[in-house]
Amino acid sequence: MSKVFNFSAGPAMMPQAVLAQAQQELLNWEGLQTSVMEVSHRGKHFMALAERSIQQLRELLAIPDNYQVLFAQGGARGQFAAVPMNLLDENGKALYLNSGYWSAAAAKEARLFGEIDEVTIGAEKNGIVGVEQLDFSEVATQYDYVHYCPNETISGVEIFEVPNVGDAVLVADMSSNILSRPINVSKFGVIYAGAQKNMGPSGIVILIVRDDLIGKARANTPSIWNYQVLRDNDSMFNTPPTFAWYLCSLVFQWLLDNGGLNAMESRNRAKAEKLYAYLDQSDFYRNTVAVANRSLMNVTFTCSDDELNAKFVAEATKCGLQALKGHRIVGGMRASIYNAMPLEGVEALIAFMQRFAQANQN
Ligand code: PLP
Repeated sequence: MSKVFNFSAGPAMMPQAVLAQAQQELLNWEGLQTSVMEVSHRGKHFMALAERSIQQLRELLAIPDNYQVLFAQGGARGQFAAVPMNLLDENGKALYLNSGYWSAAAAKEARLFGEIDEVTIGAEKNGIVGVEQLDFSEVATQYDYVHYCPNETISGVEIFEVPNVGDAVLVADMSSNILSRPINVSKFGVIYAGAQKNMGPSGIVILIVRDDLIGKARANTPSIWNYQVLRDNDSMFNTPPTFAWYLCSLVFQWLLDNGGLNAMESRNRAKAEKLYAYLDQSDFYRNTVAVANRSLMNVTFTCSDDELNAKFVAEATKCGLQALKGHRIVGGMRASIYNAMPLEGVEALIAFMQRFAQANQN
C-alpha cells in the first residue's frame, strides 16, 4: 500500500515529529524513568510543563497580557454550556450567529441558560453556501455577548473576517481552525477550542479569556465550569488530562519550531488552494461553498450521486487516503487538512481524484 494519509475531521492527524517524540519519551520523560502520564499534576515537572505550554500558546497567538489561558475538559460542547454559565446574566440576553451545524448546536445549548437571539448568517444562493452579514455593531450592545463559529467543520464554511460587534463581547468556537493562521486575540472576549483537530488528542479544551470576563459566573455554576475557579487553580481544580496537555505542548513547540502561525498559514493556504483549484477545473467533483468562505481546514466535495461518493471513499481508503467520508448529516466527502497534513497528502489526494474521475466519467 502507498503511504497513508489521514484526512479525519477529528480526532485528527498529529504531526509525525510530535508522535515520534512522545513515543521516545514514553518510558522516560525528563529523565524521571516514568511517563508524563504517571506523575502528579502538582509536581514540579508537570507544573513546569503547564507553565511552558501557556507561554508557548501566548507566543504563537500573541495573546495580550490581559487574557488568561485556561485548560478545561468536557470538549467544546462543554463550553457551549460554560459560556452562558459564565457570561450570561440571568436577566440578560446573548446573540448567536448561525452559520451551520456547530454554531446552531451552541445556540441550542445556551438556551438552557437564558434568553438567546439567533440570526442566520449562513445563506444559500443558487446552491452555493456563504456568509455575508457580519456587521452587528448596531444591535450588539444589548447583548451580554455575541457568539459565532469561525470554521464550520461539517460544511467546510470558514469566516475569515471577524464579525463587527462594536464594544460588545465576542465569543468564538475556534475548535477547527485555531492555530491555522494568526488572529487578533484582542478582538475577542472568549476563544475556546477542543484540542482534537489542530492541537492534540481529544479530552482537553483550550480557553483564552479576557480578564474582566472572569468572576461573572452565575452562583449555581458548577466549580469545574467556572472560569474564575479554573484560573485560581491554574486549570487544576480537578485532575487535568495530563497526557493530552503534554501532547498539546509538544504540538505548540512543533509550531514554534516550524515558523509559527505565519508559516502555518502559508502552508495551509498552499494546500487548500491546490485542492480547490483542482475542484474548480473539474466537472466530475463539486464544492458548494462560496469562494470567500472556503475553509482552509475542511474541504468538502461530492461526486454526482451517493453511490459514486461511497465508491470514492472505499477506493480512496484502499489507496491509503483515510477518513474522507463526509459528515453523516451532509454526506459526500470531506478532506480535513489541518496543520499536520503535509502538502504531499493533498497531492496524493488530487492524484487519486484524477484517476477516479477518469475511471468513472461517463
Ligand atoms: N465545535 C466545532 C466547530 C467542532 O468541529 C466540534 C467537533 O467536531 C465541536 C464543537 C464539538 O467538540 P467536542 O466533541 O469536543 O465537544
